[in-house]
Formats: sequence, structure tokens, C-alpha cells
Amino acid sequence: MHAEIVVLPGDGIGPEVTAAAVEVLRAVAKGFGHCFGFHEHRIGGAAIDAIGSPLPEETLLACRTADAVLLGAVGGPRWSDPGASVRPEQGLLALRQALGLYANLRPVAPHPAALGAAPIKPHLLAGVDLLVVRELTGGIYFGDKQRTPNDASDLCRYSVGEVERIVRRACQLARVRRGKLTSVDKANVLETSRLWREVATRVARDEFPDVQIEHQLVDAMAMHLLARPREYDVIVTENMFGDILTDEASMLAGSLGLLPSASLGDGRRGLYEPIHGSAPDIAGRGIANPYASILSAALLLRHSLDLRDEAECVERAVAEALHAGALTADLATTTPPLSTRAATRAVLAQLCEERQPIVMRD
Ligand code: NAD
Repeated sequence: MHAEIVVLPGDGIGPEVTAAAVEVLRAVAKGFGHCFGFHEHRIGGAAIDAIGSPLPEETLLACRTADAVLLGAVGGPRWSDPGASVRPEQGLLALRQALGLYANLRPVAPHPAALGAAPIKPHLLAGVDLLVVRELTGGIYFGDKQRTPNDASDLCRYSVGEVERIVRRACQLARVRRGKLTSVDKANVLETSRLWREVATRVARDEFPDVQIEHQLVDAMAMHLLARPREYDVIVTENMFGDILTDEASMLAGSLGLLPSASLGDGRRGLYEPIHGSAPDIAGRGIANPYASILSAALLLRHSLDLRDEAECVERAVAEALHAGALTADLATTTPPLSTRAATRAVLAQLCEERQPIVMRD
């Protein structure tokens, strides 16, 4: 297959981890006989420095016409002056909105080799396999913002249509997993959450009778996620709650550096990025964990290019690399840590072994 992929390395460790993911995608293309074109563009702080905008027109245009977008991370202390009129994060929010990417999928399935790095008791983590579906283009992050010298406000707003489409997407995903959906809100306090709960209940009842839905308040969910994570299958929630709960969920996996994400709209085009940020504390040292970015590339293969075998091959290669002890500094508790480069090589080596029986179609 032929596919055009836009690569947005961004800031901090973004360029280091996306380079690893591109290397893996190139190996997949070679091994399986595909032709992937890679087109690099600026976003975030790097774009502000170059042309004064966090989302240059040419970057947006390239993303609109690509089959998929692979992103590193944006932001860093250099651009975080609260008084600044342009900020790196604006570029990412604008891109998600411009591409209509309202569904953010964040799978969490701790690997046994990484359990030692998780601050949670291993017996609670065995068998955890959950998927958080976060609403990505509405809610408080996008509502009107007001500021006076004495106060500030951020409007949180959701429409029925916005809730329907994300709950539908979550139900479709639950249907092909274990059939269980947990909808998270704050319906005891927030009007938007009462709307969310009403709509979620109706969509699940009327359209997905085979999916079992339950509701949780976000504060209780924060606790259950750590105390009994194995009980959850698909979790659907609004933008800000999803942002916070998935950083918490990353601790189940042992490191932020292990969690990928896919942001999807109604079509096939999607944006794929690790859930972590630009990690300025370790940027430029060649020690960032590349697995979240590589696993994001696997999601790209599955969701935008419909290459399921290839996606599974990459996921197995990462699992095998972890199993073989290829751990970066965020995960290595008892062995010397690997560099980003060495961890990437470990995945490429596993990928080579994986594809022996399948490939060489040329
Ligand atoms: P962060 O995710 O960048 O880092 C949190 C901690 O996790 C740091 O100690 C970091 O070293 C570590 N970490 C993160 N990714 C890692 C990896 N791949 N390998 C090893 N360790 C890793 O969060 P932060 O420090 O709160 O934010 C830094 C910057 O990133 C801020 O400017 C923030 O706005 C931005 N940010 C961007 C995104 C995005 O682009 N999607 C998401 C979150 C934060």
C-alpha cells in the first residue's frame, strides 16, 4: 500500500521519539512491501521560533491532505511565559479541532517487564487491559476564557451531538473488546455532566444493548483506577477528566513513556502521539523512552492504514523487546538503562525476527 504520513516532531524529546517511530515504520514498509512517504513539518514551540505561529498554514495543509499524522510533543519552559500571546499547546489544540479529531483513544495494558517500575502493587496490575476514550475537541479546554485583574473563568460546554458521537465510538470499541463501558462524569455537581450521563445512558441503551454501561463520578474513578484497575474495559469521559485520568493510568503501565494514543474523527485520517509531553528535563540527552511513540505508530498502522497484521507485529516487537530487558532509564530498576537509540534497535531486531515467515514479497 502507498501512504503519505506527516511527521510533526515538535519540541523537547519529540524529535528523538518520533525519529524512532519513523525508523520502525520504514522497517515495516520494507518488510511488508509498502511504500510510505514521510513529510516533516513544524508545530508548537519550534514553529513559534521559526515563524511566530504554533500551527503554520503549511503544516495544517499538509496534515489535511495526509493519510495520517505522527506527532512527538509540544511545549517547554522556553515558551511557557503565562503572559505570552502564542503558546505551543495552541498549535496542538487547533490541529485536533481543524481535523475534527474528537475521539482520543488511550490503551493501557501493563507489560510484565515494566511492573517493577510501577508504583502500584504488581498483583493489582496483572491482567489489566483497559482503553480510555477521551473526548478531545470540546469541554472546558475549548470554552470561552475570561480574565480580569481579580478573577478568571473558563466555560465548560457540551452539546448533545458531541456526547453522542464520542459515546457511540466508545460503545463500538467496547463491543469488540469485553463489552463493558464505564462512563465517567461529575453529575452530582456539573450540568454538563448531567447532560453527559443522560445522553450516554440513552445511546448505550438504544443502540448498543450488547454493551453493559455503568457510570462513575470522576473523583471515585481516580481511586478505583488504582485500587481495582482490572475491572475496567472501556472508559469514556470528557476532555479534562480524560486528560487527568490517563496520566494517572500511565502509572499502571510503569511510565508515561509506554503509553500511545490515537486521535480520530469520522474518517480514517488520524493523529498519533505518545500521551507524554516534551519532557524538557531529559530532552537532548538521548535517554527518552521511544516505546510510546513506536506504539503510536502501531495505532497509525491499524486505524488509519487498516494494516492490522503490521500493527500487531510492531506491538509484539515492543513487548518482546521489553521482555528481553530492553528498558530505558524510566523503567530500568535493576539493570543498566538503554539509550533511546538502543531501545529502538531492540524493537527493530525483534521486528526482523517477527516478519521472517510473513514477508519478502518483492
Ligand atoms: P511530561 O510528560 O513532558 O514529563 C513528565 C515526566 O515524565 C518527566 O519527568 C519526564 O522526564 C518523564 N517522561 C515523559 N515522557 C518520557 C519518556 N518518553 N521517556 C522517559 N521519561 C519521560 O510532562 P510535563 O513535564 O508536565 O510537561 C512538559 C511540557 O510538555 C510542558 O510544556 C507541557 O505543556 C507539555 N505537554 C505536551 C503534551 C503534548 O504535546 N501532547 C502533553 C503533555 C504535556
